[in-house]
Amino acid sequence: MATAFVIDSRFAAHTMERHPEYAARLTMIRATLEQHGLLERFTTINAEPVSEEFLHIVHDADYLRLLEKTSRMASPSMLGLDTYITPQSYEIARLAVGGVLQVVDAVLTGETDNGLAAIRPPGHHATPSMGMGFCLLNNIALAARHAQQVHNIERVLIVDYDVHHGNGTQDIFYDDPTVLYISTHQSPLYPGTGAIQETGKGAGKGFTINAALPPGVGDQGYAQVFAEIVLPAARQFEPEVILVSGGYDAHWADPLANMMLSLSGYTHLDRTLLALAHELCEGRIVFILEGGYNLQVLGNAWANVAHVLLGDTEIDDVLGPADRSEPSIAQPLNKLKQIHNLT
Ligand SMILES: [Zn+2]
Repeated sequence: MATAFVIDSRFAAHTMERHPEYAARLTMIRATLEQHGLLERFTTINAEPVSEEFLHIVHDADYLRLLEKTSRMASPSMLGLDTYITPQSYEIARLAVGGVLQVVDAVLTGETDNGLAAIRPPGHHATPSMGMGFCLLNNIALAARHAQQVHNIERVLIVDYDVHHGNGTQDIFYDDPTVLYISTHQSPLYPGTGAIQETGKGAGKGFTINAALPPGVGDQGYAQVFAEIVLPAARQFEPEVILVSGGYDAHWADPLANMMLSLSGYTHLDRTLLALAHELCEGRIVFILEGGYNLQVLGNAWANVAHVLLGDTEIDDVLGPADRSEPSIAQPLNKLKQIHNLT
């Protein structure tokens, strides 16, 4: 197996002390991958910034102008309450998007079997017109559009297992039947969107699937949602490539949320997605980093995804299982099956 991989020390220029989304996240991922002897097993991609023109395929001109303006400021500023922009941020965000697109290129040209993009800033909360939730440019949405435009891909499946709802990704594809967006997320939680009843509109009706789950759901509940919702919906859709919003903040040790996934639980989801990619689209799958704010979880979760993509069978769960029992998810599960005809 060949796995394309991008990580770049330049991403560290977008950082803010005492903010949970800061440079140490990637330092930890790189160190853990190195410890596992994984770095030399990848096909390494050197990130190059995406052109400004391409960003218009997803983002509004006014918002891009605003980002561009921030690069001429002397000091960092805030978008809303939680999202910082430093004078380097726009350049770094374009570098992150560029890296993701290059990984997608490697997979869709057959140079590698699959790919991993360890990039920052994350993207799934960024809407066409505004950055929010630590996100500036919507990396995964831009990757989906790039796959369609450059590689003649018609149908892209995006699976988002970050603990937060990817409101930006949902917005971008809400009326679009060519991108199936499936999100598992804690509800209630930031950003407050992603109710089960939000299913898309117009031609895109039915192509947004929101598995909004109560706090406390762990390995068992997530496995059930993947088996009973994600798999049948993906099989009906027949994607040509699978993109994953890889957020590791649904782990029980994450400081920003209250889900109970373990590292082993995450690995089960990763293996399920890789098997799905083999079944439906010649194994073409790319994991793109989103959230995850416990550094130990983040490093190990990425090492485990890498082992899975490289075809290794052994993984480490250094943190063990959650010590709480899970709530029943029968109610949201039944509602989802009913709304999306997955019975
Ligand atoms: Zn998140």
